[in-house]
Amino acid sequence: MAERFETESRKLLGRLRDTLAEDSAGQARLDRIVTLIADSMQAEVCSIYLFRDSETLELCATQGLQAEAVHQTRLRLGEGLVGRTAKTRTVVNTANAPAEKGFRYMPETGEERFSSFCGVPIQRLGDALGVLVVQSKAERQFTPDEVYALEVVAMVIAEMTELGAFVGEGAALSALHQQPVMFRGAIGQEGAVEGQVFLHEPRVVVTNPISDDPDSELKRLREAVETLRGSVDDMLMRTDTVSTEQREVLDAYRMFANSRSWMRRMESDVENGLSAEAAVEKEQSLARTRMNGATDAYLRDRLHDLDDLSNRLLRILTGQGRDTGAEMPDNPVLIARNIGPGELLEYGKKLRGIVLEEGSVGSHAAIVARAWAIPLVIHAGGITTEALNGDPILVDGDQGIVHLRPDDTVTAAFRDKIAMQARAQERYASIRDLPAEDKAGNVVGLHMNAGLMADLPSLPTSGAEGVGLFRTELQFLIRNQMPKRAELSALYARVMDAAEGRRVAFRTLDIGSDKVLPYMKPNDEPNPAMGWRAIRVGLDKPGVLRMQLQALLRAANGRPLTIMFPFIAQYDEFRAARAEFDKAIAREKILGHPLPDKIEVGAMLETPSLAFAPNAFFKEVDFLSIGGNDLKQFFFAADRENERVRRRYDTLNVSFLSFLEQIVERCRATGTPVSFCGEDAGRPVEALCLAAIGLRTLSMRPASVGPVKHLIRRVNLNEAREVIHAARDAGEQSVRKSITEWLAKQG
Ligand code: PEP
Ligand code: MG
Repeated sequence: MAERFETESRKLLGRLRDTLAEDSAGQARLDRIVTLIADSMQAEVCSIYLFRDSETLELCATQGLQAEAVHQTRLRLGEGLVGRTAKTRTVVNTANAPAEKGFRYMPETGEERFSSFCGVPIQRLGDALGVLVVQSKAERQFTPDEVYALEVVAMVIAEMTELGAFVGEGAALSALHQQPVMFRGAIGQEGAVEGQVFLHEPRVVVTNPISDDPDSELKRLREAVETLRGSVDDMLMRTDTVSTEQREVLDAYRMFANSRSWMRRMESDVENGLSAEAAVEKEQSLARTRMNGATDAYLRDRLHDLDDLSNRLLRILTGQGRDTGAEMPDNPVLIARNIGPGELLEYGKKLRGIVLEEGSVGSHAAIVARAWAIPLVIHAGGITTEALNGDPILVDGDQGIVHLRPDDTVTAAFRDKIAMQARAQERYASIRDLPAEDKAGNVVGLHMNAGLMADLPSLPTSGAEGVGLFRTELQFLIRNQMPKRAELSALYARVMDAAEGRRVAFRTLDIGSDKVLPYMKPNDEPNPAMGWRAIRVGLDKPGVLRMQLQALLRAANGRPLTIMFPFIAQYDEFRAARAEFDKAIAREKILGHPLPDKIEVGAMLETPSLAFAPNAFFKEVDFLSIGGNDLKQFFFAADRENERVRRRYDTLNVSFLSFLEQIVERCRATGTPVSFCGEDAGRPVEALCLAAIGLRTLSMRPASVGPVKHLIRRVNLNEAREVIHAARDAGEQSVRKSITEWLAKQG
């Protein structure tokens, strides 16, 4: 039986290829295909359902059901057995369909006569396109070989859909890659841009899903896999300089590249008539489907490895490199699944915007994009599959929305928004040298956050008074080996030179949580955000901290120096860190190096515990800087990297503002200077409220200095404070509504 079927399936593929070669119109071609399959499978019915939109499937062709039902019968995702196949993306194979749970009878199709049902998802690279169904009167289950043949055919159909091979009037996916699509992602970096798509990794285009000659295809497949194995071995050979972590990834690659079952499955697909490329892609599709459903992070990572390996194999087979010769458009908007900071730095500032399928707000790429003020949208699910090089695209970083191939009305509205922003920029430039002074004469100090050399030109142009937070870890993250002391010292000296005497608060290394150094042994922790990070690492393994402190002292070379320690959760940690600094100063003194003429040592308040530290702590620190990103995450117990929970809690929540107000009060009582340097400081309404409750030094991304200053100069902070208190007394959960209404009244 199996043998009979294999030859049947090969024959079927051959006939499909002939159909593909004909130049019949879309619908006619679909009709030919279902007839062919029903015939070869000896089933009375074969139908193709395609997605009309992400929730609706439409019967697009049938052999055996009522012809009038074509393009009329529609099902929701999950509805009936067809909907279930699409939703679960697994084969549904049953001898008695009407007896199945969830069976939905559609009278217009006349399907009540059929008993057995087999539905196979049609998908390409993990994207569901539709469902291929066969049904027969006889009450029988389709054999594993039959199901296998259907899967192979579904794969070919998916390719055809992708190629627009049966694009026809009314066919569900006729407009794939042509229609406007909107993606709702998350904000990575604000700003609005219009540009053209530039794919970080262009998709490999498979144009020949069916082979003429399985033997020569097998040879091609085996040769390509050999080349792939060789290249992975080469990478491993060159790994004496790479970290254990990279090595582990490469080992996983090698394991996959040598996997017998992977090879066997691809070989059997080729033996059954698929081309080598299509066989690789079929495996890749399967891995992507599993990846979408995998909840275990480790498993997802490994499936990701397999996906990457499949891409490499496809490139070997098709000869298409990463560089497909596609020219970078004038206004490139980079589209990628994810990207590392190193790769992003290679593209440089020529990018107009960035859209990622994955990524997170705190990711290194996001930090680099922010430093360059390049609008960034993350979590734009499916964009790498939808976008083609050169497609027009609008990136709305303020709302986390992307319009791909937008229609004219959307583009016009978007251009208005860009023009408005440009006018606002001019307004901000005009107040650049004025203080952020409100109508009552309260002055707010506005500083900027930085971390890369590329940030520093923004210091004079933004109007910031200094650098309130210099994230030193960025310099560690963009390298692939631990920087040397002399290198760091030269870099910090350049930062101080560029600041031209303005204060720069250097935060010592804040690694751990999502900031993992590629060259440090990975730490397997159940909850890294609350794990061994920042000062905890610095104190337990003080080598790097000491080196960094020494580099900072040498960079200052007699000039004033400001440092702060991240993530101090209790008094002792500050004392221990400060003791390290004192030791470093003493060593420098012995060596006869010049010492800074003024030293400030602060702590970052990022855990609620520190707000309740003894008065002695408040008196001992030279200043406190509130790291609102972490503080808010721990205050609400809501992961800052998890958009779903992060968004639940407003920064303007009265509990959080009251908590901040208590910190301000303690600082006032103990005479401790305090500032706020989380991302919220850069959002005008939030900044206004922070200033109103008494936080009179704020540090933010450079592009926010203008808008924040503009707003502060137009209001009375004393009044804003009253509005906040009134909202709190009235029992409101967040002061946002009251403050927004009050602002509207101010005009
Ligand atoms: C913070 O937590 O608010 C902060 C400024 O530090 P980071 O965002 O680098 O953790
Ligand atoms: Mg922090």
